Amino acid sequence: MNTPYYLCEEKLLRKNLELLKKLSDESGAKILLALKGFAFSGLADLVSEYLSGCTCSGLHEAKFAKEYFKGEIHTFSPAFIQSDFDEISDLSNHIVFNSFAQLNKYRARVKGSIGLRVNPEVSSSPVDLYNPCGEYSRLGITCKNFDAANLKGVEGLHFHALCEQDVDALEEVLKSFEAKWGDIISTCKWVNFGGGHHITKKGYDVKKLIKLVRDFKAKYSVDVYIEPGEAVGWQSGTLHTTVLDIVDNGMKIALLDSSAEAHMPDTLAMPYRAEVRNAGLANEKKYTYRLAGNTCLAGDIMGDYSFDEPLHVGSKIIFEDQIHYTIVKNTTFNGIKLPDLKILRENGDIEMVREFGYEEYRRRN
Ligand SMILES: *Cc1c(COP(=O)(O)O)cnc(C)c1O
Repeated sequence: MNTPYYLCEEKLLRKNLELLKKLSDESGAKILLALKGFAFSGLADLVSEYLSGCTCSGLHEAKFAKEYFKGEIHTFSPAFIQSDFDEISDLSNHIVFNSFAQLNKYRARVKGSIGLRVNPEVSSSPVDLYNPCGEYSRLGITCKNFDAANLKGVEGLHFHALCEQDVDALEEVLKSFEAKWGDIISTCKWVNFGGGHHITKKGYDVKKLIKLVRDFKAKYSVDVYIEPGEAVGWQSGTLHTTVLDIVDNGMKIALLDSSAEAHMPDTLAMPYRAEVRNAGLANEKKYTYRLAGNTCLAGDIMGDYSFDEPLHVGSKIIFEDQIHYTIVKNTTFNGIKLPDLKILRENGDIEMVREFGYEEYRRRN
C-alpha cells in the first residue's frame, strides 16, 4: 500500500466514544467534539452516534460540523470576523465571546444562546504553548475585566484552562472559577468546562469527573458541557510510513517518506516522542536508527529507536497514536505529500477517505 497514510481504527475510536457516552449518561453533562483536535469526515457518523455535537472556532469548523456531524454546534472565536458572523450565527446553537467588546458588537445578531469565555487564571498546563491561562493570555475574560453590569442576553459561561490533564487539575480550576464567578453562575442556563480533559487516557478518574459534574449541576441548576478534542481521538490510530534510504553519519539514519515537521507537528512543538510499533528506545534492541523526515529541515527528526531486525529500504514504520492534532495541523511544507486518510473498519476492511497528491501543494502555493 502507498504510504504515507493515517489509519484511524473504528474499533478504537468507538471505545473512546463509549466511555464519553457513559460519562455523559452518568453525569448529565453534554459532550461535544472539539473539531480543532480531531476533524475526520469519514468517522463523523460514528462520533454523532455518541456525542451531542461539535465545538468550533470559526466559520470553517462550523460549516464542517454542519456538513458532516449531527447535533449542536457551539462556536467560540478569539475574535469573530465581521463578514463571517451572520453565517456562523445561523449555524450555531451557542456563540461564545472572548471579550465584552465582541459581545457588544455582535449581541443583537446572535440567533442562539450567548456565552462569555472567562479566564479562571489557574492552570497547570505542562507547556506555555498550550496554556490558555498563562501570563498575558488573550483567551478568556479575566475577573478584573468582567463587567457584571453588562450581561444582557448572556446565558452561559465558558472556560478552557486545561491541556492533557486529569480531574484533579479540573477541580483546582473549578475552585477558582466558582470563587470568581459564583454569583454569575447561579444566573446562567449553562456552563462549559472546555477541553483538555484526558478522559480516555488510562488511569483518568472518570468516576470523580462524574461526581464533580453532578455536584456542580445540583449546586447551580445549570447544564454542563464538556468539549474534548484529544480525548476523542486519543490512541485511535497510526501513521504508516516507508523507509526510503538509510545513511550513516556516526549513527544509522533512516529516511522516511513522511515528516515530523509536516505530519506529526506536536512531536516537535510539544515536544514528545511518538511510539513506534515493535521498536524500543535507542540501544534497547539490537539495531538502533534515527528516524527522520524527508524534508530539508535539519530538525525534521522523529527520534532514535531500536529494532530486533535491521531496517532496509522498503521497511514499514508505524507511528502509534497519530490521529488527534495531526490531520488537523499537517502541512505540505517542502512539497511533501500529505498522508492519505484511511479507516480500518470493524469488519477488517480498509477504506480510503481522502487521497492527496500534487494538487494539495499547488492549490496552497
Ligand atoms: C482546544 C480546545 C478544546 C479541546 O481541547 P483538547 O485538549 O483537545 O481536549 C476545547 N475547547 C476549546 C475552547 C479549545 O480551544
